[in-house]
Amino acid sequence: MNITANTRLLGILGDPVSHSLSPVMHNAAYQEMGLDLCYVPLHVSPDALADAVSGIKAMRFMGANVTIPHKVPVVPLLDRLADSAVRTGAVNTLVNSDGMLVGHNTDGAGFIRSLEERISIDYSASPVIIAGAGGAARSVGVALADRGVPRITIINRSRQRAQEFHDLLAAGFPQLEIFMMVPESDYGELMRSSPLVINATPLGMNERLKMVPLKVDAISKYHVVCDLVYGRSQETPLLVAAREKGATILGGLGMLLHQGAVAIRLWTGIEPPIEVMRRAIES
Ligand code: NDP
Repeated sequence: MNITANTRLLGILGDPVSHSLSPVMHNAAYQEMGLDLCYVPLHVSPDALADAVSGIKAMRFMGANVTIPHKVPVVPLLDRLADSAVRTGAVNTLVNSDGMLVGHNTDGAGFIRSLEERISIDYSASPVIIAGAGGAARSVGVALADRGVPRITIINRSRQRAQEFHDLLAAGFPQLEIFMMVPESDYGELMRSSPLVINATPLGMNERLKMVPLKVDAISKYHVVCDLVYGRSQETPLLVAAREKGATILGGLGMLLHQGAVAIRLWTGIEPPIEVMRRAIES
């Protein structure tokens, strides 16, 4: 990579951020596309988020991605929100439009694309369980509600965040049946009748968080279990447990790939090289 004063910067703001495969994926894409762009990991703690967002503008970044735990807190720091961000209350992509930072959300589109690459699904017959109520859960929940799933059960540690997610869904989708549970609740029956199960918490992400985020007793071969947490090689504890139960499993790499592709289209207006990006994160 030949970095000069003309090179435009992009990056990912997160805490932690060292696990992220976005830099390798994006830089592989820009190299293939012949673009003078460089994408860097930016470790930003929650108390430094506002300064970091100002820095993105001050240093004339072309844009940035935003990951855990900033997707919701970044919203009030932006100049404008695209429809995808308004509808989810969460942002994963910033576009620097002549000094104005515009927040978008490409996670929902990325998740749907990745799901449909793996299975063919009748959304109207697919109630859903989602563990988590943060930025990723909201994006995926809204995308699935958009496609007509009849019920979403939210399982989250903090009741307040679950309530916020509930209210967001209830406001946008009056027909949707919504349940809220804490992880200790007995949700076996709901899980039995929800063929789509999604982990949108960081549980399983690294050694410290190496645990199964949901009770898996009710999971069977009729389930599709998706973990948004991704790793280059090992399956997460949830996916290992779900596979043992005979379920179809889907890791987070496909979502990473497709949310990144949508972000590149927003930043450059050019179609990204999907297979080059896929190879970069899978190898
Ligand atoms: P947020 O910080 O916005 O939300 C995290 C959610 O997880 C909250 O609901 C939080 O619960 C819950 N949570 C956090 N820690 C724990 C814990 N120790 N035990 C139980 N619940 C916990 O994060 P995001 O939504 O942005 O990201 C969530 C995960 O999804 C991350 O691992 C991220 O890497 C992954 N992700 C993957 C993507 C992909 O492309 N594959 C895209 C987006 C995200 P509470 O409300 O109680 O704090």
